[in-house]
Amino acid sequence: MTATGLGDGVDTLFAVPPEHRLDDVDRASAKQILACDDRTLSMLLDRGLPASGAPGAEHFDSRDLFNLALYSGTGTTVPEQAFAYSLRWMRSSTEELLAPRASRFELRVACAAGTCGPRPTSVLAVPRPERSGGAVDDLTIDPADGGPDGDGGDTVVRAAPGLAVAATVHTRGEQAQLRSPELRAITAEFAAMNLRWVKLPEAMQEDVELITTRGVASCASASRYLAQLCDRAGVPAVTRIGWVVGMLDLVHAWVEVEDDDGATKVIDPIFALFSATVPGTNPLLRDPAVALCTNRLVPTGLSVGRTVAEHRCAGEPTAARVTTKILPAPKRPQETP
Ligand SMILES: [Zn+2]
Repeated sequence: MTATGLGDGVDTLFAVPPEHRLDDVDRASAKQILACDDRTLSMLLDRGLPASGAPGAEHFDSRDLFNLALYSGTGTTVPEQAFAYSLRWMRSSTEELLAPRASRFELRVACAAGTCGPRPTSVLAVPRPERSGGAVDDLTIDPADGGPDGDGGDTVVRAAPGLAVAATVHTRGEQAQLRSPELRAITAEFAAMNLRWVKLPEAMQEDVELITTRGVASCASASRYLAQLCDRAGVPAVTRIGWVVGMLDLVHAWVEVEDDDGATKVIDPIFALFSATVPGTNPLLRDPAVALCTNRLVPTGLSVGRTVAEHRCAGEPTAARVTTKILPAPKRPQETP
C-alpha cells in the first residue's frame, strides 16, 4: 500500500477532482510539506501531480499534497511525521488502551464573519461518554443561557454569535469478541479491501462510492459503508461521530453495532487502517474479530451527517471558527484513583 517515494506516490494518488480543488498551496510551501527540492517538485508535476498556474508559479491542492506525502513512504514529509506523532498512542498496551481516563474537554464555536448577521444561532454537540461506560462531570455552557436543543441532550444551542461547552470527561475502553458470523465476515471483508484513508474535500467526506470505485475512505464514508453492510446483513448498526483524545483537529466517526449477544460494540474501521501506517501498533486495533473501544474515544450522541459545531446567521449556515481542546484532566489528590 505504501509507495516507494514521491514519484511513485503520484501514480497512486487519489487526486481531488477539479470541481473541488482549492489550489491553496504555492511551490515554496509545497516543497516544505513534501520535504523535497525544486527539481523533485518539477519531476512530480511532469509525472502528473495536479496544479494550476503558470510554469514555475504553480499552485497545488493542500489535500493532494497531504495524501501524496502520507503514502509516499519517505518518512521525511510533514504529514508522515505528524501522523506518526499523533498516532504513537496506538503502540500502547491493551491495558493502557482500556484503563479509565479523565480528560478536560472544551469545544467552542464562533461566527467566522467579522460582524455576525441577524438572528444568529450557535449549536454544539455535547460529549456523551456514558454511551460507552464513561461519564461527564461539571458540564458548563458558556454563556449560561445556552441550553439543550430538545434532542435529549445531544446538543446545546444559543441565539448568539458564539457558544462554548466545557466538561471533565471520563472514558474507559472496552474489548469484546465479535460473535455474529455475519458481523465477523463484514469486518474481515473490510480489512481485506486494503483501503486508504485520505483527506477529502468536505463535500466528498461521506461518499461511500469512493470506497468501492477508488479504494479511498474518510472515517465518515468508511463508517457509512460498514453500517450499510451491517444493515443488509440484518445486523443493527448506527454510525457515531465524536473525538479522539490526542487528535485534536479530527472529528472522528465509527460504528456501533448490536451483536448476537445483545451487547452494543464499537467497530472503528479507520483505526485499523491508521494502525497499518505506524510500526509496532497494538494488534488488537486491526483484529477484525475484536470490537475495541479505546479509552480515547469520546462519543457524541450524533451520527455521520451531523456536525459537532454549527453556526447560522441571517437564516443560513455560515462559516464558523471551531476550537476543540481535550487535555489530560488535572489529578485531584483527594480522590482515590
Ligand atoms: Zn454569524
